[in-house]
Amino acid sequence: MELLFTTLLGVLIGSFVNVLIVRIPKGESVVFPPSHCPKCNTPLKWYHNIPILSWLFLKGKCAFCGEKISFQYPLVEILSGFIFFLIFYVNGFNLYSLITSLVFVLLLALSVIDLYYKAVPDNLNLLASLLAVLSSPSLEENLKSGLLVAGGMSMLRFFVSYYVSKKVEFELKKEIKKAPWLKVYFPPYVMVEAMGEGDIIVGFTLGALLGVKATLVAIFLSALLALPISLYYKIKNNDSQLPFIPFLALGAFISYFFAQPILELLNV
Ligand SMILES: [Zn+2]
Repeated sequence: MELLFTTLLGVLIGSFVNVLIVRIPKGESVVFPPSHCPKCNTPLKWYHNIPILSWLFLKGKCAFCGEKISFQYPLVEILSGFIFFLIFYVNGFNLYSLITSLVFVLLLALSVIDLYYKAVPDNLNLLASLLAVLSSPSLEENLKSGLLVAGGMSMLRFFVSYYVSKKVEFELKKEIKKAPWLKVYFPPYVMVEAMGEGDIIVGFTLGALLGVKATLVAIFLSALLALPISLYYKIKNNDSQLPFIPFLALGAFISYFFAQPILELLNV
């Protein structure tokens, strides 16, 4: 009974998360105006606003203008309910389960926004990092782990950016040697940023939530998940800019439950 209640709570929060996903990147208020169709702007009736069921009932179309409603809405609601169900099922009914579930639901929101915009809003990202520190009684340990992962990622970002920048600079110099007149078109120095700043805050969140070891497992898993998909995209679209937060979030969720057996399997 309690599990059913928390799962429903998760679904309801997922419904609100859909509002965050749609409105925050556009800089709109998340409470006003009330839910409306993005196409025809007609305000929704209460029975159009029931998570999952309304979407099924309306067959994924607006009741007024017939515009297709994205599958994102029921999907985020289902995933959010699933997150709440699993976390509460494993950790029992307490405040920390609630905070942990909220962190994962925020990571879900960041993932969807990253998919759409290839960037994430700082306010949701910072909220997730703050909640991650509060996600278990050992605040000091959580903070330390978060800072350690964020620091490690910053250094990694610095090294990778340096390497990529130098490589690009080297290629440019070779081009200029072949055709000196090209020089006016090139910048005097090259600065390529590998990894976004937002990814480092997500790194902090994972560190605070999972601890350092399980975060390394999460990053390992996310790279494993991202590799085939990034290769596919590179071949198909000639585009290597894959949003990484969805993979990090999924890796973190798996690692939250299975870090120990995975570490044992890898013998570390
Ligand atoms: Zn409509």
